[in-house]
Amino acid sequence: MESDLLGNIIDAHCTACNYKSSVTIGGTMRDFQTHSSWPVFCQDCGDMTSTNARAEPLICLTCQSARVTKYDAHHLVEGETREVAGWCSDHLTDGLYLCPTCRKQTLRFDPQPRVFFD
Ligand SMILES: [Zn+2]
Ligand SMILES: [Zn+2]
Repeated sequence: MESDLLGNIIDAHCTACNYKSSVTIGGTMRDFQTHSSWPVFCQDCGDMTSTNARAEPLICLTCQSARVTKYDAHHLVEGETREVAGWCSDHLTDGLYLCPTCRKQTLRFDPQPRVFFD
């Protein structure tokens, strides 16, 4: 059977404040052209949510603010050595990311993503 899965669920964990969350990236074969998930950091409410990266503008799913920053290899991260997960031109790595709760650069994405099936 041909699988149509394209997305991953990635666990995130902050080693400083023990914040735990999970994010979804990517989409499914059926709707990835209109909907694909990518984690963003919200400057207004300080939450990390997996918003629809196809939407313009990107918004925070918690407070609907558009003042969000994508979590990818170019922002909010230091010390990355390899990619954990990627989607189109976006990448998550094993580096240390900005924690949405304690605002330290101590958030890690789990290098073993869990796949999800639609
Ligand atoms: Zn928000
Ligand atoms: Zn933290």
